[in-house]
Formats: sequence, C-alpha cells, structure tokens
Amino acid sequence: MLKQKHRELIDRLAAEHTLSDEEYCVLLTETDSEGDAYLAACALRQKRERYGDEVFIRGLIEISNICKNNCYYCGIRAANKNCDRYRLTEDDILECCDEGYALGFRTFVMQGGEDGYFTDDVLVSVISEIKKRYPDCAVTLSLGERSLESYRRLREAGADRYLLRHETATESLYRALHPENLSWQQRMRCLDWLRECGYQVGCGFMVGAPGQTVEMLVKELRFVEDFRPDMCGIGPFIPHKDTPFASEPAGSVDMTCRLLSMIRLIHPGILLPATTALGTLHPMGRERGILAGANVVMPNLSPPSVRKKYMLYDNKLSDGAESAQAKAALTERLSAIGCYISQSRGDIKKDNL
Ligand code: SF4
Repeated sequence: MLKQKHRELIDRLAAEHTLSDEEYCVLLTETDSEGDAYLAACALRQKRERYGDEVFIRGLIEISNICKNNCYYCGIRAANKNCDRYRLTEDDILECCDEGYALGFRTFVMQGGEDGYFTDDVLVSVISEIKKRYPDCAVTLSLGERSLESYRRLREAGADRYLLRHETATESLYRALHPENLSWQQRMRCLDWLRECGYQVGCGFMVGAPGQTVEMLVKELRFVEDFRPDMCGIGPFIPHKDTPFASEPAGSVDMTCRLLSMIRLIHPGILLPATTALGTLHPMGRERGILAGANVVMPNLSPPSVRKKYMLYDNKLSDGAESAQAKAALTERLSAIGCYISQSRGDIKKDNL
C-alpha cells in the first residue's frame, strides 16, 4: 500500500513544485513500486495539462564523432583508438534534413563531439541553409563548449535551441568524471551564455554515474529548480568498453524514471526526452520514460552508414524504432501507450510558476 508519507510528499511536490533536500531524498530512496506509480501518475497528469498526449520528435543528426576531449565516460573520447572516426559534410547534413523533413520532422538536432573542423563559419553556413530551406523548422545544436561570441553567431544564423548537458551540479563529481582541462565553472558559464544569447537551453545529467550519491541527485533537482532549463536530458549511465569506466555498473531505469517524474513536477512545462540510453537498457525504456512524464523522443536521422560509429556507450540503439526512417514503428509503440507524434516544432510551453 502506498505510504501516507509518500503520498503527502508527492502531492505537495505537485502543488508547490519544490520540497526540502531531506524530502527529495526520501522520495528518491525510500519509495517502492506503488510510490513510483503514484509519482508517475501525478507527473503524467501535469504533462497532459500542458501537452495532452502529444510527443515531440526531433531528428538527430550526429555530425561528427571526432572530439578533442577525453571525458572518462564517453566512447568517442579522443583517446579511444578503437573508435572509427567520421565527419559529415555540409551536403550530408542537408540531405539528412531533406529526408527528415519529408518524414515529418520539424526539428533537426545537430549533435557532435568538439570537432575543430566545425568552425563558426562552417556552422553558420549549414544553419542558414537549413533555415532557408525549412523556415518552419527549429534547429537545435548540441556541439559542446564554445565561446560566447560563437554561441551568438550561431544564434544569429538561426539556431533556436542548444543542448549542453551540465553533467552534474556537483563540482567534485564533475572533477571525477572529467580530465583536468575541463572545468565545471566553464560548463556553467557556457549555460549562462547560451541563455544570454536567447537560445531555448537544454541541460542534463547521467543517472548512476560512477561516484554519484543520492545527495548529488538531490542537487540535480535543485539545479533544475534554480536554472529552469527549457529541456533536461537525463539517462542512465551506461559504460563503454574502451573507457576508464568500462567495468562500472550501469545506472538504473527505475531511478531515471523516478527523476523524470520529479523533474516534471518541479517544472511542469519542461521538455523531457525519453533518452536513447533508457531504450538501450530496457526494451520498454522509452515507453516507461514517457509514462513517467517525458514528452520528447529523438530518433536517429544520421546516415545509416555512420550510426554505429557514434557509440557513446556500449550497445547504443540506432535502429528499430530508434531510427527516423522507422517512424511508423514509433507511432505504433506510442499509440500502444495512448500517445501520438506531434506535427509541430514542439516548443516549450512556459509556466508562470
Ligand atoms: S562527452 Fe562530449 S566532450 Fe566529452 S569526450 Fe564525449 S563527445 Fe567529447
């Protein structure tokens, strides 16, 4: 039976959109399946009030797996000599958009490692051409840390949104996950710059990253409260065989779904993806994420020949319903849980909380 204490905490979170650290901790650690089910039902209700049963789709174009960085958890880190590197040309990217548009996608996400080839000039040219061909589409960038000036130029060229996972709100954990040359302060600065430039900003973190504690997860929730991102991408940590974290255990699907629900209740209008990592760890992971309050999926629109090369973690899904071309399969899977694909760009509906 659902504990009275849990019901009260969840009801209060749904009404007031915040709890104390201790109360967040109770919801994260002392709950059971009935508590999770009640939490998910409340999150789903708040999502429906704003977005109905629509799920937004984004066409994900992985433009390069070349990266100068060496984040300890990442399969395409520079030091991984087993990674078969590729970089899409401007024409490749535009072809992906042409195909995606015909398939019904109205947001294109250009994601890649920090690859020096993609200078501002190169990106400005691609973004401008996409916006010229498809003015009704949103362009999202997920290209890591850049300068304020760079973010500004890309925004002026037409980029609408930027995803930059903050990775963790705890500086000591950031240090444990990254080499010396990367800094948590700089990450935070970049997020502020993106906001300053007028992007819709997405952040995000891994659930179950090596060294992460429950107190740190509470800090993540507080970060969402304070920063109020337009989007937050969270997925379970999954190890990659060629990284220093190869033998670390994967994160938990249950904990990820619990956090999705809590984030939905903290910031009801937020855009929350059911990430590929969830689908990779559990055959129904994506559906479970949506039933916990997520409302975005990002099928893969990269050329099929490169999809297996963008291996951020072991066994990352890129085909089946994860593929943009398999939209019919995705439609079917969503319909089985009472949802349907939106035809719109899928912008955030802001709350005045
Ligand atoms: S996480 Fe991003 S910045 Fe870090 S190594 Fe991977 S692609 Fe590069």
